Amino acid sequence: MSSVVNASMQAAQEGFWAYRRKSGKERAAFLREIATQIEALGQELIAVAMTETNLPEARLLGERGRTCFQLRTFAELLTEGSWVDAIIDTADPARTPLPKPDLRKMNVAIGPVVVFGASNFPFAYSTAGVDTASALAAGCSVVVKGHPAHPRTSTMVAQAIDKATDICQMPKGVFAHLLGDGFELGQALVMHPYTKAVGFTGSFSGGKALFDLANSRPEPIPVFAEMGSTNPVFLLPDAMSQRAEQIAQMYAGSVTLGMGQFCTKPGLIIGLKGSDLETFSSKLSAEIAKVSPAGMLHAGIAKNFRAKRQEILSQEGVQLSGEFDGQVTDIQGTPSVAEVSADTFLKNTKLHQEVFGPFALVIACQDSAQMLEVAQHLEGQLTTTLMANPNDLSDNQELLAAVSLLCGRLILNGVPTGVEVCGAMQHGGPFPASTDSRFGSVGPSAVKRFVRPLSFQSFEDTFLPDELKNANPLGIWRLVDGEFKK
Ligand code: NAP
Repeated sequence: MSSVVNASMQAAQEGFWAYRRKSGKERAAFLREIATQIEALGQELIAVAMTETNLPEARLLGERGRTCFQLRTFAELLTEGSWVDAIIDTADPARTPLPKPDLRKMNVAIGPVVVFGASNFPFAYSTAGVDTASALAAGCSVVVKGHPAHPRTSTMVAQAIDKATDICQMPKGVFAHLLGDGFELGQALVMHPYTKAVGFTGSFSGGKALFDLANSRPEPIPVFAEMGSTNPVFLLPDAMSQRAEQIAQMYAGSVTLGMGQFCTKPGLIIGLKGSDLETFSSKLSAEIAKVSPAGMLHAGIAKNFRAKRQEILSQEGVQLSGEFDGQVTDIQGTPSVAEVSADTFLKNTKLHQEVFGPFALVIACQDSAQMLEVAQHLEGQLTTTLMANPNDLSDNQELLAAVSLLCGRLILNGVPTGVEVCGAMQHGGPFPASTDSRFGSVGPSAVKRFVRPLSFQSFEDTFLPDELKNANPLGIWRLVDGEFKK
């Protein structure tokens, strides 16, 4: 094991030294070629992924499209070039009492990055997913620890990256793909002295263990772990008085989409006790009971879902209100919903935990003060949703303030599932949703996780990187003496 890890990290270190010197345009061409090579795998890749993940063809086709779009988005970012955040403060030799030196700062690649692929996104958050694409965009070499739930899919995508490496004449060590069951391989990669950052998507226990490990190193390194969320939804009274059934219908779809195997699945739905919430709950229960179960991603996820759902249902005061009433196999998840009072919820933090799968808990509050109390007691989240009319928002300003502290993305009158890939998206939230809420793992800004700022003081123009030269040969946006210009 250690010889494989050592050899891979040695190659990644050498690959990094050569790859970091490639221009943004060369790296952009490499990312585009990876997308082309993934597309060239055609239907065979989709067929293999269907067998390994139980995900349907349409979902996998969409996810492959998203993965290639992400790679091309990072390529555009590199071609445009301003992502390095160049800042130039020119010298003032006449300043008193001391002359001001010439200072120029830009983002540079952090070093070799270890990526842990996710099981629930076998393309978009796995081998050539956002973590890999953003690290390669930044100029880092990447070592992927493939997810053991889809080894063949992961290997095929890794081969596409290898092919792009050859075509674009990139250094060999720019990318490596390792497979291995058990934690030993991943832990050795995180502990290796050449590793300079980690990207992870998966469980809280996995992300937190790797974060702690990285911090125990003689040289601690950043771990960007996206670990999941219960994505609370607050049902406000005026909206509920007008459209309780319609909202329930929408949420039955969101809770059970993809068998609930999204980190943005709404797991907690919080409303005010009364007839509108009863209408909502009975419609939600009836709709969820109609959803046919499907196979979950792997046996471990199905087993965890059953155990966690059971743990919630066995807590005092929790009532199962609706579930699919038919045959369910071991690999399938049972679409279901339960109810609890806010009094009980506030006392029992087990009920605050994520159940990864098609399950949600409806929480009935006595009044709006108790709804606020629930918001104030929740942990960090990827998303929070308000189902509200304008007067609900005006009447609940404190709730609005409380939920904006909770999460990375605040949604009004929508569902949290379905994450748009664009610059203004934030996918990452306060702990335990992720280990660093200042960053996100969707959209072009994900590249910022794998760079560090470097200042050049008193350098002659010829020795500066192109991004910082006086003539601005790349034509990028820069902050020069306090003014944004090209
Ligand atoms: P996982 O168990 O967190 O595993 C993800 C990756 O991290 C795997 O490669 C795994 O290695 C590695 N890993 C996990 N714990 C580790 C540790 N202590 N030391 C070293 N490596 C470690 O995620 P999963 O297999 O995809 O699913 C398991 C559970 O995670 C699910 O049931 C669900 O609850 C949760 N999950 C949540 C999300 C989300 O977005 N919220 C997404 C996926 C999963 P091995 O494979 O070798 O174990």
